[in-house]
Amino acid sequence: MSDCLFCKIAGGEIPSQKVYEDELVYAFYDIDPQAPTHFLVIPKAHIASCGEITAENSAVVAHCFEVISKVTKDLGIAQFRVVSNCGEQAGQSVFHLHFHVLAGRDMTWPPG
Ligand code: 5GP
Ligand code: ZN
Repeated sequence: MSDCLFCKIAGGEIPSQKVYEDELVYAFYDIDPQAPTHFLVIPKAHIASCGEITAENSAVVAHCFEVISKVTKDLGIAQFRVVSNCGEQAGQSVFHLHFHVLAGRDMTWPPG
């Protein structure tokens, strides 16, 4: 999608601090970190949110979680939280599927 911020970041059109990249997935540090470590994992292909995952596109979602497992190990992070906000009421502000990975501080539950 030409007007999507995260499509532009995944395509290198808008700069970001890369954590990991392969042909399907891009990971980069959040511009407004909510924890000592806070990065985002996104499929390069545009999916608007968790609510748009289907049998046709879910393989990349599984791959996002493989990437989360690998990158956290590579960074030496053993304890972390994965969050995906779906819809404005849930806190989604960028409508390209992304998984927040947060680590390095105590987390509260339930989230606010
Ligand atoms: P959401 O609110 O949709 O769950 O998460 C969107 C996240 O994207 C937010 O944590 C926000 O800080 C981050 N973000 C928004 N714009 C940019 C940007 O231009 N660069 C980076 N690296 N992160 C961004
Ligand atoms: Zn997009």
